[in-house]
Amino acid sequence: MLKESAVFDAIILGAGAAGLFCAGVAGQLGKKVLLLDHAKIIGEKIRISGGGRCNFTNRQTGPQHFLSMNPHFVKSAISRFSSADFIKLVERYDIAFHEKHRGQLFCDVSAKQIIELLLSECEIGNVEIKYPVSVQEVIASQDVWEVCTQEQKFIAKNLIIATGGLPVPAIGATDFALTLAKRLNIPVVTPRAALVPLSFTSGIFSTMDDFAGISIPVSISAGKNRVHYGHGHFQEDLLITHKGLSGPAVLQASSFWQEGEPVNISWIDESLWDQVANAEESRKKSTEALLAQLIPMRLAKEFSEQLDLLGKNWAEVSQKKRQQLIDLLIHWSVKPAGTLGWNKAEVMVGGVDTKALDSKTMMAKNYPGLFFIGECVDVTGHLGGHNFQWAWSSGYVCAHALI
Ligand SMILES: Cc1cc2nc3c(=O)[nH]c(=O)nc-3n(C[C@H](O)[C@H](O)[C@H](O)COP(=O)(O)OP(=O)(O)OC[C@H]3O[C@@H](n4cnc5c(N)ncnc54)[C@H](O)[C@@H]3O)c2cc1C
Repeated sequence: MLKESAVFDAIILGAGAAGLFCAGVAGQLGKKVLLLDHAKIIGEKIRISGGGRCNFTNRQTGPQHFLSMNPHFVKSAISRFSSADFIKLVERYDIAFHEKHRGQLFCDVSAKQIIELLLSECEIGNVEIKYPVSVQEVIASQDVWEVCTQEQKFIAKNLIIATGGLPVPAIGATDFALTLAKRLNIPVVTPRAALVPLSFTSGIFSTMDDFAGISIPVSISAGKNRVHYGHGHFQEDLLITHKGLSGPAVLQASSFWQEGEPVNISWIDESLWDQVANAEESRKKSTEALLAQLIPMRLAKEFSEQLDLLGKNWAEVSQKKRQQLIDLLIHWSVKPAGTLGWNKAEVMVGGVDTKALDSKTMMAKNYPGLFFIGECVDVTGHLGGHNFQWAWSSGYVCAHALI
C-alpha cells in the first residue's frame, strides 16, 4: 500500500554533482528539500573522477571552455557561482588540493572528500536524501509536481532534474532527463559521447600494438567548418593505445568530432622542425634520426618508412619528399571509425536544449517550477574540471531561483 503523500518545497531527482550541490544550497536557503536517486551508491561519478582525485574545478573556467548550441548560455551561471566560489568552499572544508595543468584543481587525497563535502552541505540544509528509489512517474498537476515512487507520492512546487548524461550506464546513467523533456515537448539536442577515445577500423600505423603506450605532445583539431559546436583546437598529450587514439588531446578533440569527419594532428611543431631540418649538422643524419630529435624513435622510423625514407641521409632527400614529410607530420588528417562509446565517455554533448531554459535560473520557460541542471543540459565542458564547475554553477543558480 502507498504511504501518505509527502510535501516538499523542492524535489531533486539525481544525487550526483549537480543534484547534491543544489540540494545543499537550497536547503540552507530554508527550503524543504527531498533528493532522490535510483542508484545504490550516490556520487559515483565524483568518486571515479580525475583518477580518484576529482578534478573538481578549473581556476580558468570561462564560457570558452564549453560546447553548446548556444555558447552564451553558460555565462550567467558561471559568473554568479564561479570556480573561485567553489574553491572557497573546498578551502572551508580544509580539503588539500593541487593544481596540475592549466588551472585544473585536484584533491591531494581522494575524490571522496568532495562527496563528503556535498553530503555535509546537505546535512546542514536538512536535506532528506532517499536512495535507491525508483521514480515511476512525474506528473505536472496544477501548481505542483508529483513524483511517484513504488512506495510513496512526493509533491513539490519545484522539480529539479539532475539525472546527468548517458556516459557510464554501469554506475547509474540513464536517459531519464531526455525522455522526460521529450514527453513535455521540451526540445532535446541529439546526444553523443564526448571526452572519449577514438577508434579506427584499419590500423593507423603498420601495427598498432608496436606503438601502444606512446604518449606525445601534439596539436590536434576537429570540427572544422561546422556552424554549431564550432571548431576545437588543442595542444595536449596524445596516447596511442591498442584500440586507437586517446590521451587528453584526443579526448578534447572527440567532443568536437562528428561521424565522417577527420581529425587533424600535428605530430611536431613546424618551427622546431624547420630548425632541425635546416641545421648544418643534420645533412649527414638519417631522416629518422632527425625526427627522433622531436618524437619517439619508434614513430620516427614509422613515418620515415611510410615515405620510403628509412636510413636515407637527409642531404639526399628531395624537396618533394621533404614537403611530403611535412604534410605527414604537420598536416596529418585521419578519419576515425567512431568512438569507444558511452562506457568510455566522460561526458555527453547535447541534451536538454538551452533555448527551452532560462539561463539565469535553469527553469524551463514553459513549465514554472521545473528545472534542468548539470550534464543533462546541452552544455559540455572541455576536459579539466569545467564539467564539475557547470554542475556547481547550474545547481547554485537553480537553488536561488526556486519558487
Ligand atoms: C570516468 C569519469 C571521470 C570524470 N572526471 C571528471 C573530472 O575529473 N572533472 C570534471 O569536471 N568532470 C569529470 N567527469 C564528468 C563529471 O563526472 C560529470 O560532468 C558530472 O558528474 C555531471 O554531474 P551531474 O550531477 O549532472 O550528473 P551525475 O554526477 O552523473 O549524477 C546523476 C545522478 O542521477 C542519478 N540518476 C540517473 N538516472 C536516474 C533516474 N532515472 N532516477 C533517479 N536517479 C537517476 C544517477 O544515479 C546519478 O547519481 C568525469 C566523468 C567520468 C565518467
